[in-house]
Amino acid sequence: MIRINSLSRRFGSFEAVKNVSLEVPAGSFMVLVGPSGCGKSTMLRMLAGLETPTRGTIEFNGKTVSDGDGNWTIEPAKRNAGLVFQSYALWPHMTVAGNVDWPLKVAGQGKQERADRVREVLNLLGIENLGNRFPNEISGGQQQRVAIARMIAPRPGILLFDEPLSNLDAKLRVEMRSELLRIHRATSATSVYVTHDQVEAMTMASHVAVLNEGRIEQFGSPSELVAEPSSAFVATFVGTPP
Ligand code: ATP
Ligand code: MG
Repeated sequence: MIRINSLSRRFGSFEAVKNVSLEVPAGSFMVLVGPSGCGKSTMLRMLAGLETPTRGTIEFNGKTVSDGDGNWTIEPAKRNAGLVFQSYALWPHMTVAGNVDWPLKVAGQGKQERADRVREVLNLLGIENLGNRFPNEISGGQQQRVAIARMIAPRPGILLFDEPLSNLDAKLRVEMRSELLRIHRATSATSVYVTHDQVEAMTMASHVAVLNEGRIEQFGSPSELVAEPSSAFVATFVGTPP
């Protein structure tokens, strides 16, 4: 589970994330949704350890990873969290298999163990026939699968996604929604998924947090948000105008 307590992030005089508290139950698929600039990526980057909080704490499975003084108590690489962005950032000089192998190599795993795991995750993503290709020899959708394979290879307990489908065409985007949920379940991880697409949010989430100008407007299941939106903003956002 992820516990976020009074989390804030300031850039100069501008506060991008304002006193956010959230509890994401273990195994849930939490979608962080809201308009452009509302602080979604900043939130996710703080979870990943790419950004230090100005105030507030973050706990992963009972362990504090960021304390209240803007310090990391567990460095990003040791958080057992995987991150996938909108741009997949694959290593261009490595094959698909090499990209997926890379985090395992960094973790010091043995050759045979790594080879087995690479095969396993390429299979899980349905790209087992692409292992020897280079990133520039495969499609955008396939690159995105490689990025997800690379993320899950070291078996992170927490999966962080920042608009991972926004570069894909509409058809593939819809297909990949159920694919991502399948992968989430197969890894038994806790996922935090950022999007500004309300349909994506409402169809994928077990829990939704609606963010507006750095604050949480409402947190609940998709059906709770539809049945009892806490504000006109949420109602409009989830598609049930008051
Ligand atoms: P989008 O949907 O467009 O990706 P977002 O919800 O992810 O938006 P963030 O990237 O979290 O938004 O940014 C939130 C606010 O913080 C924005 O107003 C942004 O300009 C500001 N911001 C983010 N990073 C920085 C930074 N390093 N320095 C200054 N301001 C920043
Ligand atoms: Mg963003």
